[in-house]
Amino acid sequence: MRGGARLRRLPRRADAQRPRQEDRERGVNVIVVGAGLAGLTAAAELTARGADVVVLEARDRVGGRTHGIEVVPGTWVDAGAAYLGERHTALTALLAELDLKTTPTAMTGDSRFALGGTARRAGRFALGRTARRPGRFPPLNAVALGELFDALDALSVDPDTPWASPDAAALDTRTAADWARTRLRHPDARLFFPLFLGEMMAADPADVSVLHLAFYLRSGGGVRYLNAFEGGAQQDRIDGGAHQLCERLAGRLGPRVRLGEPVRAIRQDAGGVTVQTSAGTLRGQAAVVALPPLLADAIAYEPGLPAPRSTDRTAPGCAVKVHLVYPEPAWRDQGLSGWSVNARGPLLSTVDDSPPDGSVGVLTGFVTGREAHRFAALSPARQRAQALAQAGRLFPGLPEPLGVHVTDWVGDPYSRGCYAALFGPGDWLRLGPHLTAAHQRVHWAGTETSTAFFGLMEGAIRSGHRVAAEIVTTYGRNLHV
Ligand code: FAD
Repeated sequence: MRGGARLRRLPRRADAQRPRQEDRERGVNVIVVGAGLAGLTAAAELTARGADVVVLEARDRVGGRTHGIEVVPGTWVDAGAAYLGERHTALTALLAELDLKTTPTAMTGDSRFALGGTARRAGRFALGRTARRPGRFPPLNAVALGELFDALDALSVDPDTPWASPDAAALDTRTAADWARTRLRHPDARLFFPLFLGEMMAADPADVSVLHLAFYLRSGGGVRYLNAFEGGAQQDRIDGGAHQLCERLAGRLGPRVRLGEPVRAIRQDAGGVTVQTSAGTLRGQAAVVALPPLLADAIAYEPGLPAPRSTDRTAPGCAVKVHLVYPEPAWRDQGLSGWSVNARGPLLSTVDDSPPDGSVGVLTGFVTGREAHRFAALSPARQRAQALAQAGRLFPGLPEPLGVHVTDWVGDPYSRGCYAALFGPGDWLRLGPHLTAAHQRVHWAGTETSTAFFGLMEGAIRSGHRVAAEIVTTYGRNLHV
């Protein structure tokens, strides 16, 4: 293994299809595919251990499902991942290491709910009506929602090996929609369940198996932890945006990170791996594929994978994030927190993501599940009009917005699963045992390979640490160049 030489960034367009002689001959220890949190964590750790690493990233930016947009000069918002809680210990450690701070998610004041009101109980939905309530608890039957949460918590799953849970076979054949139909009696529980899934997982209940639902909730710390802001998984956000995590990691890695190079194929032989990108080929001892499952499966492997990374039941979670930017967080003047939950879209929920100094007001709206597909297909003008009209109904008296920013993850070819991939019926039994099992010299990372905090930034970082340790154990001292 030759080492020491600095890798150059390849030209991105004109030479894109032409393999370079130097790349064909040049070898590195580990080739990491994907510059999201998982890939960059793995690359940073392997580099710190003396390995010669290259990270190949398809997009022209790092960060993957973390992505910052500057809505007014100097103010960034999270178009992708945003929130974290105290149990996210790997993320918290990374924040400290990278000298990034967090800010509490503002949640002071009353909430707004557009869930249907009393007419709903008579079977007639009056979805235009909005209610105002202190705190975050919706104006629905508290006992019914408590029983729903208890029923979800009671779903039996082994969080480390969900496919080996005693009830795995039964839970993996049914969708969460089937479960709700037979298990939920109270209309308020039935009403709330899809909203809860849309908010937690950007999922439609018909798209996930009961086993996946049970696993996801357990993996993330339980229903109540996942659902909570203060003391829960949404307690804080990162000052200045979560994208800084990847930007700082990539900054440390320097020219080892190469943008605009989607990986197409990975061949392996007794001596190593040959990774083919849009720009050429690269030789390494091992590869780490740190991609969501549907994208990992889009790479051609030789020899072929013993088991797929996804099936035709694996669905991409669907989210569109909308940022409405106002001159100030005007809803606070009316004693409102900015939090709302809405049974009819487009915005399923809204949250106050204004910067800590309140210099502008940022209302973040989430459009998820089936509604995300409909909304994503609208023209920008209609998206803007619908989102502003809804915000106006929820928070009367809002001033003219400074801007409206729509981030469509539904059609993003390099994510395919936002917030994360959704495992449908049969997926866990088929895919679970292979999630982290290396295919000879090809190793796997990404939040969907982590049984702890699956689908979250925390899961991605943990998967990066896990795969780095796996590579060090497998290749040992040979990694030192
Ligand atoms: P990714 O970030 O998807 O990284 C994979 C990388 O691989 C990408 O950069 C991609 O461009 C690249 N790539 C794809 N194909 C190829 C190829 N063929 N060749 C080379 N590169 C390729 N998590 C939380 O913890 N809290 C939240 O509040 C939260 N909210 C979210 C909201 C939204 C709207 C979204 C989209 C996600 C959210 N998440 C949240 C989830 C979180 O963003 C992800 O779990 C995490 O960022 C995944 O990191 P990863 O490295 O596993 O994958």
